[in-house]
Amino acid sequence: MNQEKSIFSKIIDREIPADIVYEDDKCIVIHDINPKARVHLLIIPKKPIDTLFDLKPEDRDLMGHMMLLLPQLANAQGLDGFKTQINTGASGGQEVFHIHIHLMGN
Ligand code: 5GP
Repeated sequence: MNQEKSIFSKIIDREIPADIVYEDDKCIVIHDINPKARVHLLIIPKKPIDTLFDLKPEDRDLMGHMMLLLPQLANAQGLDGFKTQINTGASGGQEVFHIHIHLMGN
């Protein structure tokens, strides 16, 4: 695992500010600082997993938890449809090495 604290861990620990939409014991949801759609949320686990390649069997519930949040978040934002994206690895377009799901809708 990356030893340096990710920008998202710093947001989770309130070391840097973010526009927080939702939070529970497992994850936090923020508005993307550089939105690619009218609504662009990032669903971020509090556990600092670098990429999908680093998932362990014990992360199954956490990932399922985040997937189940997506339609709830979309409903709360008034979206009747949305796109999701998980960039994985530098060659997959990942810039922040702390797993996150993009939720985008217009
Ligand atoms: P990736 O390419 O890693 O999937 O996407 C990282 C996303 O995080 C980008 O869409 C970028 O705009 C967003 N981002 C990067 N730094 C920050 C930040 O400090 N605050 C917020 N809210 N979003 C960030």
